[in-house]
This record gives sequence, C-alpha cells and structure tokens, in this order.
Amino acid sequence: MKMDNLTQYDFKGTLKNEALKYNFNLTDEQLTMFENYKNLLLEWNEKINLTAITDEYEIILKHFIDCLECTKYINENENIIDVGTGAGFPGIVIAIYFNNKVKITLVDALNKRILFLEEVVKRLGLKNINIIHGRAEELAHNTEYRETYNIVVSRAVANLTTLLEFDVGFLKVNGRCLFLKGDNVKEEINNAKNALKILKCDIENIYNYNYEVNNEIYSRNILQIIKKDIISSKYPRNFGKIKKSPL
Ligand code: SAH
Repeated sequence: MKMDNLTQYDFKGTLKNEALKYNFNLTDEQLTMFENYKNLLLEWNEKINLTAITDEYEIILKHFIDCLECTKYINENENIIDVGTGAGFPGIVIAIYFNNKVKITLVDALNKRILFLEEVVKRLGLKNINIIHGRAEELAHNTEYRETYNIVVSRAVANLTTLLEFDVGFLKVNGRCLFLKGDNVKEEINNAKNALKILKCDIENIYNYNYEVNNEIYSRNILQIIKKDIISSKYPRNFGKIKKSPL
C-alpha cells in the first residue's frame, strides 16, 4: 500500500484488523512491538539484505500473519529453536506473540542477520531469547543443543529432506517440527520418505491456511512432524554430504 505525503500508513490498525481475520486478537503492546520490528527491518534492509518484501501491507501478510499462524500449534513454556531464522521469521514473531512466555533460540549462518536480530531483541525488550551464529548441521552435534528442544520451526530454508536432516537432531524424543511450507508439500513429503524413516519421524498433520494479498491467494501449509525415537549420532552429516547425497 502506498503512502502519500498527507496520510501516514496506519500500520498498527491494519495489522490489528488483518490479524483479527485469522483469529489473533493482538494487544496494543504486541502491535507496538510489531511496528518497531517492521521499522527496524526496513531501516536495516537498506544496508543489508534482510527481505525482498518492503511494502508495509505485504510485510503484515507475508511475514507477520504468515508466521503468526504457527503459534496456533505452540503452547506456553515450550523450548523452541528456529533454524535458518534470517531476519527473525518465524522466531521473532513467535517471541512477540508469546511475550516472554516461551524460550526461543534463533539460529542463522549469516552473521549480519545475527547482528540485526540482536538489535531487534534489545530494542523490543524481548526476553528468553538466545541468538546463535552457526550452521545447523554443526550446532546439532553440540551437546548444548542436541536433543534439547520441544519444537523446531523453519521457514524457507531448504526442501523437506534437507530440512529434516538439519533440524531433527535438536529435538527431544516426542518433540515436534513445525515447518512453514508452500503449495507443493505433498511432493516434498513423497521425496522425504526415506529421510523420515532414517530420522525416526512421522508426519502428524498438515495444516493448510490461505491469505490474500493484492488479489493473489497464497496457499500455505504448516507441516507438523513428530520425532518418535532417538536418532543415530551420524546425523546430521556435513553439508557437503547432505547436498551431494540427500537421504
Ligand atoms: N526463515 C527466514 C529466512 C529464510 S532465508 C524467512 O522465512 O524469512 C534462509 C535462511 O536460512 C538464511 O538466512 C540462511 O543464512 C539460513 N540458513 C540456510 N542454511 C542454513 C544452515 N545450514 N544453518 C543455519 N542457517 C542456515
């Protein structure tokens, strides 16, 4: 939505109304945090590449509403890790929504994005957030992080086969993956049959949701996967192997 010189775009009002359509009744405190996050995102995006989405209405739908959807499958007091969080999606959105009631670890391989996330956490006053610069397939072997989390979330990081190998080592047995995926989720599942088996995972649910931006409908899926058993310490393999011979 374009801003003109006379009227400031009503970001909080628009977010409030859009979120209500998806059954999120955001408080003024949450709306203010989202607005500050959006301002930092746009400000830092001029110097480092954080997002291709810069229109405020599109940020509301494609980043905030899209990521809020996964909070429907998260309970308070869970210990969550967001692998490949980038500019904080969905991790920062989850943190704002639960407002310090969950513990969340944000992981990314790109240090400049880590610096941005540190600034966001500081400026928004978010608590219980741990930010780690590193590669998932390496961190998942570190005893500090292995089999530590109830939930691992990822959006737009890799195909399902690769994503499972990156992420499942972080989970406790009976922990869950929540993967934010696009339209071709059935095909991804078909291709990941072997990875699911080797990594002791079962698909529990596929939650479909849609949103509309400028007359285009986006069909999205949250893939909920449960880790049924402990996995071999071989996994994840190093990135060369993951890429060269996918499970
Ligand atoms: N989840 C965010 C970012 C997606 S872009 C969003 O939905 O907007 C993918 C991000 O994953 C990038 O920031 C990249 O640095 C990170 N990434 C990719 N592979 C990774 C790995 N193996 N370990 C850690 N981070 C990784």
